[in-house]
This record gives sequence, C-alpha cells and structure tokens, in this order.
Amino acid sequence: MPIQTKAYAAKSPTTPLEPFSFERRDPGDHDVAIEILYCGICHSDIHQARDEWGGAKYPMVPGHEIVGRVTRVGRAVRKFKAGDTVGVGCFVDSCRECPSCKKGNEQYCTGHVSFTYNGTEKDQKTLTQGGYSTAITVDENYVLNIPKGIPLEQAAPLLCAGITTYSPLRKWGVNKDHKVAVVGLGGLGHMAVKLAAALGAEVTVLSTSMAKEGDAKRLGAAYFASTKNEKTFETLSEHFDFIIDTVSAPHDLNSYLNLLKIDGTMILVGVPSEPAAVHAFSLIPKRRSLAGSLIGGIRETQEMLNFCAEKGIASDVEVISPQKINEAYERVLRGDVKYRFVIDLSTL
Ligand code: NAP
Ligand code: ZN
Ligand code: ZN
Repeated sequence: MPIQTKAYAAKSPTTPLEPFSFERRDPGDHDVAIEILYCGICHSDIHQARDEWGGAKYPMVPGHEIVGRVTRVGRAVRKFKAGDTVGVGCFVDSCRECPSCKKGNEQYCTGHVSFTYNGTEKDQKTLTQGGYSTAITVDENYVLNIPKGIPLEQAAPLLCAGITTYSPLRKWGVNKDHKVAVVGLGGLGHMAVKLAAALGAEVTVLSTSMAKEGDAKRLGAAYFASTKNEKTFETLSEHFDFIIDTVSAPHDLNSYLNLLKIDGTMILVGVPSEPAAVHAFSLIPKRRSLAGSLIGGIRETQEMLNFCAEKGIASDVEVISPQKINEAYERVLRGDVKYRFVIDLSTL
C-alpha cells in the first residue's frame, strides 16, 4: 500500500509554498520507509522553488536535510531496522556503475543521479519529492545512520550544509597549518567555521553583517572581518591558504581571490544565479586556483556524521512549524537566520 504523505509544495516559481498531499512508494525489497521528523531549509531549496537555476519541476516538495525514524524495511534490507534514527541528504539514488559511483562519489555520477527533489527516480520519469513532508521511501544504500548524541533537529542540516563544507575541507587536506577564510556566515558558512576549526585551521569569517562578529567567534573563528569595509581587502591581501565561498548572491570573486597566498585555493560552494567574471590576473601571478565542490558521497557523509558526533558538533538551528516555511524563506533572504531553519514535521 502506498504511503499517504502530507507535505508543503511549490506549485510555481512565484507562488508561496502550500499544503500538498501525495503518495510515497511502498518499500520494495531494498527500501527503507522513513517517518520524517525534521527537515532543514537550505538556500538551494529557495533557488529551486523559485526556479533561479532553471529547469524547475512542479509541484515541488523541497528539502534535502532530512532526519527521521525507520517505520518499515524491505525484506532484503540489512543495514537498518524499524525504529532506527536515520538521515537522507541531497540524493536518493545514482547509477551505481560509473567510476564516480564505484569510488563513493555518487554526487559526481556520470549516469543518472536521483536528486532528492526536483529530480527523477531511477526510471527518469517519476518526479522525486523532498523532505518538507511526513514520509519518504529510500533505497538503504542512500540512507545515513544518525549517530547517538546529536540532537535530531541539529543533525538535519548536517545532511547538506555539513557535508557540503566537510567534503572540500577534507579533499584539500585542511589542517592546523592553514589559514582558512569562510565567506558568508549562513547555513553553510556556520558549519564551515565549526568544521574547519575542528580540523585545527585558523578560521576567519568574512561577512557583510558586522552584527555576526560575536557569533563567528563563538562558532570557532579566530578572526572576523567585514567585507563592507574596503580596508579588509588590503589588510588581508595574500593572507589565506584556502577560502570557502558560501555566498548565495552575485559578488566580485576577484577581490576575494586577492586574499589568497601563492598557491592558495578558493573553493566555491555557494551558487549565485548569475555567472561571475574572473580576471586572469587574479589567478596567474600567485598561481592561485579557483575550484568548486558539490555536497559529498554517501560514505563521506557517514564519516562526517561520525566526526560531528565525536567532536560534539551540530548545527545551530531555529525550529519552525511547517506553516512558517514561507516566512522563513523571506528571513533567509534577508540574512536573518541563526543559522539554519529546521521544520518540525511532526506538527504537519
Ligand atoms: P544562507 O544561509 O542564505 O547563507 C548565505 C550567506 O551568504 C548569507 O548568510 C550572507 O552571509 C551571505 N550573503 C548573502 N547575500 C550576499 C551578498 N549579496 N553579498 C555577500 N554575501 C552575501 O545560504 P546557505 O543555505 O548557506 O547556502 C549558500 C549557497 O550555497 C546557496 O547558493 C546554496 O544554493 C549553495 N549550496 C551549494 C551546495 C553545494 O553542493 N555546492 C550545497 C548546498 C547549498 P553574511 O551575512 O555573513 O554576509
Ligand atoms: Zn542544500
Ligand atoms: Zn554513477
């Protein structure tokens, strides 16, 4: 029997999200049926609900920072059982055969990836729907175990904001010998600060909001600088080994690139809707690199969750009822979020 599911969906790019009902598939042999407890609001949800990246599919139930409880499992499922606390991130399936999938980098699958919402299932036809909903059915290989000790509402944002910042920090080997700048102190930014500090790096937050200085330091940053102050770009010139750019809106990359040392790397994780112009001289004279990084694979996501549990790291959240989703979107756009909205689905 399909699972009757309540949700909030966007029906068009210009209308607010509204209550919506649909059916989730009954768990097949390899599936885990999950009752969703919490789902984070990622800025990517807003970009996609409003079709800022193109190709949006409606009705769209956003949400890819999902934490819930297993209600039922298919008969071939080995990793989970009813009652387990689990997570689902940004994708719910991939081809499983390409070199990326085989390496555990499912996010870079060269076949078909089923993104958790605004994508399609394995059949490449059925729309996927995300976590602003009461239930989800997912193949066990794409489900994460939430380690004990992390409060569930604070664990939800780790499934996207956590892994998206952890993955590049690990890929580029960030450690105690490095000075790291985090640009933008929002959902991703606040996790980047916590994780880079936990890896031993000296972290500086570069923010447009002077009022976030106290929080930046509480979260683990050694330094804070306002990007509204032109002097910041002189004082910190050629200062950093790495810059993690989490900014969601258009901004000048060149002024940030100039803050990198020789051989420094700036990693883009934020996705503004407009392309940016990069001057070759921002890179060439100091042999700098400009890179990007997309979420993380299943294995690495589990590693990140275990790392967070071990280090006592979780997200700073404001829990809201589903009725407040549209208001929360407006507040995210105003930068009024500390530092992730998480929807309590038990009230839907
Ligand atoms: P968020 O909570 O809204 O944080 C973005 C931060 O960027 C804001 O808090 C603000 O920080 C800064 N900012 C906003 N507008 C700015 C502007 N005009 N100029 C300079 N700074 C500005 O968003 P999020 O959920 O962290 O997501 C950030 C971006 O990452 C989004 O574009 C999202 O789609 C993308 N994303 C990418 C991946 C990936 O795999 N690469 C995964 C998830 C999300 P201050 O107030 O400190 O300046
Ligand atoms: Zn996200
Ligand atoms: Zn693949």
